[in-house]
Amino acid sequence: MSTATASDASGLQARELTRDYPTRAEPLRILRGVNLSLARGNALAVTGPSGSGKSTLLHVFGALDRPTAGEVLINGRNPFALPEPELAAFRNREIGFVFQEHYLLPQCSVLENVLVPTLVAPDADAGVAERARMLLDRVGLARRLDHRPAELSGGERQRVAIARALINRPTLLLCDEPTGNLDRVTARAVADVILEMARAENATLIVVTHSAELAARLPKRMELVEGKLEEGNG
Ligand code: ADP
Ligand code: MG
Repeated sequence: MSTATASDASGLQARELTRDYPTRAEPLRILRGVNLSLARGNALAVTGPSGSGKSTLLHVFGALDRPTAGEVLINGRNPFALPEPELAAFRNREIGFVFQEHYLLPQCSVLENVLVPTLVAPDADAGVAERARMLLDRVGLARRLDHRPAELSGGERQRVAIARALINRPTLLLCDEPTGNLDRVTARAVADVILEMARAENATLIVVTHSAELAARLPKRMELVEGKLEEGNG
């Protein structure tokens, strides 16, 4: 499907996604026909044990990694139909990522780190610094703008990463084990921030995790079982 046939559907759609990793023997099939329809603004947890393909799935949803077969539609557009430079711009504009590691730049301040994704956006305007301050205020870091990542706790670093993920007003927020490095109490607080911020920004949210406790916080849950997404119980 080309971008010219983009539908009105907003949110995320996946149809019969497969993803193989080549090996010296036969390819390793990690995703085996994933289907999903998640309307704009909805939130989903994807669970599954380590090695089940959760990160692989999130990379395909986030247009970081091409599926071997099948289709992803983000707000009705197939990102993989775009030429590479446009795909990178689309990803930067439409999708925010939060990973288990914060990937903050150690030499930059909190405020500068949040502004990094705006540096490549051609239409970034003077309002972005104000938006960065607003986001940092909302994640509880209004008084830490000038601090370096090394001066923050693990939970605070993830809060910065959440603000950075949202700076370009993405419609899709993808989180890969976002609380995996945090203690339980901090993990809960960071999960609160992710849920609140996604709601406030009307972003479609997908959190992949092996943590049942984190998954229970989301309104909808699915499980990655043998390469397919199945309805979770509850
Ligand atoms: P999860 O995030 O659920 O732990 P992953 O998506 O990281 O699972 O990995 C799923 C499977 O795919 C694992 O068996 C892993 O070893 C394999 N895998 C992941 N990335 C690659 C790669 N680039 N090349 C080959 N195999 C990979
Ligand atoms: Mg993973």
